[in-house]
Amino acid sequence: MQHLTVLGTGVLGSQIIFQSAYMGKDVVAYDINDEILAKLPERWEYLKDAYRRDLADATDEKLDAAVARIRATADLADAMKDADIVIEAVPERLDIKQQTWEAVAAVAPADTIFATNSSTLLPSDIAPFTGRPEKFLALHFANEVWKFNVGEVMGHEGTDPEVFEAVAAFAAEIGMVPVRIHKEQPGYVLNSLLVPFLDAAAQLFVKGIASPEDIDNTWRIATGAPSGPFQIFDVVGMMTPYYLNASSDDPIKREFAEIIKRDYIDKGYLGKGSGRGFYEY
Ligand code: NAD
Repeated sequence: MQHLTVLGTGVLGSQIIFQSAYMGKDVVAYDINDEILAKLPERWEYLKDAYRRDLADATDEKLDAAVARIRATADLADAMKDADIVIEAVPERLDIKQQTWEAVAAVAPADTIFATNSSTLLPSDIAPFTGRPEKFLALHFANEVWKFNVGEVMGHEGTDPEVFEAVAAFAAEIGMVPVRIHKEQPGYVLNSLLVPFLDAAAQLFVKGIASPEDIDNTWRIATGAPSGPFQIFDVVGMMTPYYLNASSDDPIKREFAEIIKRDYIDKGYLGKGSGRGFYEY
């Protein structure tokens, strides 16, 4: 599959677009209006810097060639006309995903494969709105796709196995390591492992069992992992664990949210991106 269309050019959409173009695909970037699309050159400069920093093979020539393979449009029918595969990275709201896929289904060629990058919705939540459930599945990326390059491929019961394999092959062609998920699973593999791990670390901290530094040291030294859980919280940023824990039924989780708010968010310590979270950078 050579022609990719990506819906949504935000944090993840822009990364999927740039990475696929970098790996030689012709990519159409679709978003809802021209003002949003006008910000893309800035995103490409940011991503070029990141690729130069993180990837030994990222020459200026290759990075410029990637940008040249990207075409932006706010016209959905135009965005769809040559698409072999569509990857959707619009906001994480079922109503927006539903409207988006209904609109896409009305104009896309009959053979085009549809994939969602949704983090929390299941493919079966969205499949009825695509008009072609057998050609629909999830291809889930991790933030900073050029570096943390897993592509979690997850269908629903009605996904055609050939489509599943075609998308796994496509993921490999754009530099991802495909992870085949055989049954629908909220959180895929990555977050099914990561979320309970981070919850366990938060509990140790809230109950006063050990400090974040010592919890991280234990994990890093004893397992050889590069980061401990509180370093991971800092990369994710404080807002996500705050929202996830603040509305929990579990009093320990709510206390964790209160601590995050009082001692970090309210002081402007939002995580690594802001220069300080559990650690100073
Ligand atoms: P974002 O808010 O940065 O970007 C969303 C983009 O979609 C924006 O450019 C917005 O203009 C556009 N948009 C809004 N409505 C649209 C519509 N109807 N049609 C087309 N585009 C529309 O969001 P994000 O962080 O890039 O997340 C997008 C998706 O990727 C979500 O499903 C999210 O769960 C998933 N995801 C995010 C991450 C992450 O770390 N941010 C990681 C993996 C997966």
